Amino acid sequence: MFAALCADGLPIASDGETESVTLEFGTGAGTLWRCRTCGEDLTETTTGYATDTADGLLCAAYDPPDGALTGSEQGRHDPERIPLSWCNGAGIRVDESADSVTVSLSVGDPRGAFTFTLRRICDDAPGELAGRIVLHTPYPGESLPHMPLTAVRPGTYLVGATPAAAAQIWPASCDAA
Ligand SMILES: [Zn+2]
Repeated sequence: MFAALCADGLPIASDGETESVTLEFGTGAGTLWRCRTCGEDLTETTTGYATDTADGLLCAAYDPPDGALTGSEQGRHDPERIPLSWCNGAGIRVDESADSVTVSLSVGDPRGAFTFTLRRICDDAPGELAGRIVLHTPYPGESLPHMPLTAVRPGTYLVGATPAAAAQIWPASCDAA
């Protein structure tokens, strides 16, 4: 096997024998939110979204109009979800002995991942699949899933929620997605 390793389309020095590549995301110890205005990472508290500073609820970037109190509701951080903060990482692994390529995506427990494996069945294997390529994917009802899946339609699954919740949060208007 010889595999070229590229990042953003550009080759990376490699011995050609690379068997796995991973892309790991870190937004800082599981931080899921940041402030749209000041860009600080935020954590959810009982009183709102705050940074880990003493006056964490108040946005340093807030520019109060004349006469407004800096401690007012408007002076608070404006939380937004951090893109890709739901993903721990993604990887590709090749296994020459199994004649397979596996793509993995971790969104729950960082020790595990959803895996998608394409594999060619041995030419001398018994049965009709000999020499054919098969695709293994996660599926609803799988034992020990990385996260539970609920089918929305063929090829689209809701991750980590119950079927009842899926019906509620996937209105018909989202079908074009
Ligand atoms: Zn802020």
